[in-house]
Amino acid sequence: MMPRPTAPHARICRDCHGFGRAHIATGLTRPDGTRDTTGVNCQTCHGLGTVARPVALVGSRA
Ligand SMILES: [Zn+2]
Repeated sequence: MMPRPTAPHARICRDCHGFGRAHIATGLTRPDGTRDTTGVNCQTCHGLGTVARPVALVGSRA
């Protein structure tokens, strides 16, 4: 398992849990006998698997 370096300002997307892109079987079979799949990007992170951390979560009132 390769460690995936993540930027400090990014966090794992909560919608896809970091997968970002999913392959879904279309139900069709290709000429070579394999099942046809289509890739779908996560709507939240657009396939990145991470989302930018919301700004000003750790705000301090001075
Ligand atoms: Zn996502």
